[in-house]
Amino acid sequence: MRLCRFDENRLGLALGEEIRDVTQALDVLPSVRWPVPRGDLMIASLAALRARIEEIAGTAPVVARSAIRLLSPVANPGKIIAAPVNYQLHLDEARADPGIHFGAQVKTIDEYGLFLKATSSLAGCDEGVVLGRTQRRIDHEVELAVVIGPGGRNIAEADALAHVAGYMIGLDMSVRGTEDRSYRKSLDTFTVLGPHLVTADEIADPGALDLELAVNGEVRQASNTSHLIYGIAKLIAYASAAYTLDAGDVILTGTPEGVGPVRPGDVMSAWIEGIGRMDVAVR
Ligand code: MN
Repeated sequence: MRLCRFDENRLGLALGEEIRDVTQALDVLPSVRWPVPRGDLMIASLAALRARIEEIAGTAPVVARSAIRLLSPVANPGKIIAAPVNYQLHLDEARADPGIHFGAQVKTIDEYGLFLKATSSLAGCDEGVVLGRTQRRIDHEVELAVVIGPGGRNIAEADALAHVAGYMIGLDMSVRGTEDRSYRKSLDTFTVLGPHLVTADEIADPGALDLELAVNGEVRQASNTSHLIYGIAKLIAYASAAYTLDAGDVILTGTPEGVGPVRPGDVMSAWIEGIGRMDVAVR
């Protein structure tokens, strides 16, 4: 199933090129009071939600893609976890380019562990990326984004994929410089997720997906998730050894080689096999 969130928190079901407004299905979500439980309510209720969507989809109104504004499919991830330098050729380019490493020795994911991005950095593809007035180098990083379903702590690698609710395209926008990753990569709009949440049952092997990013039509990044240094199951095990994972947590799995700067006016077009494409304007 392919789910999207659009306009004022409406829920969409994507069927080929068609999107059906299935917002009514959100009635199955529990009503909560403060303090709200950790995690994303929609992802935590995904099984019941899917069943309700199946019931109403046939009569749900069709909306035109051009008439709606896509938001991040996951509204309230408790954590945005990200993998540093998780493709060998990106590690190589980071070590070779002073505009990326800024004099620091670029280590490996074994040495770095993972890092966290502020949840306020989240944006949908139609909201775009806002660079502001900075003169700093700000790079695109296209990544497979994994959404956690059933949470857990100390999840074994062998069981890890059973904890995945689905997949999205992620953009881990990054100011280059000397500051900590959590600072440079957490600006507002610097985590773009979309266009849809594709549920895990639709992706036979997330470790063998082509991914690509073009800027203004020119391909900058092209790789396959088979080149991940830490694959998806290992990343889930690695993350859950440190943090309890909750439904709706997002893991950005790392970017392949070809990162480079964007400027206001650019349009990034990101594509991942089996997930789709999203065009993201830079302002
Ligand atoms: Mn990244």
